[in-house]
Amino acid sequence: MVKSSFIDDLLYAPSYGWKDKNAALVVPTTKQLWSEAFSRMNIFKARSNWISFASFLMLAGMLPFFFLFLFKYFSWYLVIAIVVYSMLIMGTHGTIWFHRYCTHKSYGFSHPLWRIITQNLVIRTIPEEIYVVSHHVHHCKSDEPGDPYNAQAGFWYCMLAEYNHQRVSPDLSEDAYKKAVHFMKHTGVKLNSYQQYQKWGSIASPMYTIGVWLLNWSFWYLVFYFIGGTGLACALFTAAMLWFALIRAFNYTGHGGGKEKHRDGIDFDRSNLSINQTRPGLIAGEWHNNHHLFPGSARAGFLPGQLDLAWVYIYALRKVGMVSWYKDSKKEFLKKYISKGQVSDLMPLTGDNYNMGHLDYEGL
Ligand SMILES: [Zn+2]
Ligand SMILES: [Zn+2]
Repeated sequence: MVKSSFIDDLLYAPSYGWKDKNAALVVPTTKQLWSEAFSRMNIFKARSNWISFASFLMLAGMLPFFFLFLFKYFSWYLVIAIVVYSMLIMGTHGTIWFHRYCTHKSYGFSHPLWRIITQNLVIRTIPEEIYVVSHHVHHCKSDEPGDPYNAQAGFWYCMLAEYNHQRVSPDLSEDAYKKAVHFMKHTGVKLNSYQQYQKWGSIASPMYTIGVWLLNWSFWYLVFYFIGGTGLACALFTAAMLWFALIRAFNYTGHGGGKEKHRDGIDFDRSNLSINQTRPGLIAGEWHNNHHLFPGSARAGFLPGQLDLAWVYIYALRKVGMVSWYKDSKKEFLKKYISKGQVSDLMPLTGDNYNMGHLDYEGL
């Protein structure tokens, strides 16, 4: 694991703290978690709460579509559209964009246009920095105190992590801020200067974040409206809302709900609680145990039957030249873990430790 005070102090520590004086994980009550979340969304308390407030507004802005769908445009055909859009399309896009590109830089685009199209391929939800910065911490401190979605602290600890544990600390030094910016530079998101960060408490510029959000929603509303009328538009915004609200559960289940659930021959990384689950794997390419072994790989489905739709997208874009390079660790995985053919050989193997290379410190 990376020992670095930069990583230790990168995220905005919750008021209940990450660990107690014996260095054990603090497990807050559900009430504590909700009150922390509400205080972090409170824009009247601090301007720097804007990013959590915007996230709340986003969910609230999707609710009217949900009610319109439910009470005015409901049909079973649209229910199928919701299931496909939320689980398959939003899910796979999350892997392609937030996870494999923005966070792990596992592939590159040949032109910024392809990057912008990929970013906006679905209805926009979470701002990139909320995912990216905290996800590096998740890899550095998987299942340890300080892991922003430590499943051992319970379901709501993960569900409310976006507000309570995933925001960048408002107290970074200029030097630390520069390092944090380094995680985001390639994403195309307009970033704050240190002075602007001190004012807004975020890496992303609020104007950019709100502007992209409004443009993206207007574009997709019109597209869906022309394809299938108001009914389809309401249904797919409902789908986006469901994904946005429920995806947080993956951070809990993807690490076994805080319990050791590894299966021999399937989960080869025993250094943390991550597991390969069939559903997130098949629908979104999130073979999470494989991913913890090779975080920098643009592909995570390594074994037969581990369909990886996010990889299909990246590979297809490489074929047509929109993606200029990618890293594929399948061969390395097979050589290291499968060719031995002995499950007993694999215990207690640890993963490819999340190191300075993964954090991409070059040039700092
Ligand atoms: Zn994980
Ligand atoms: Zn990851």
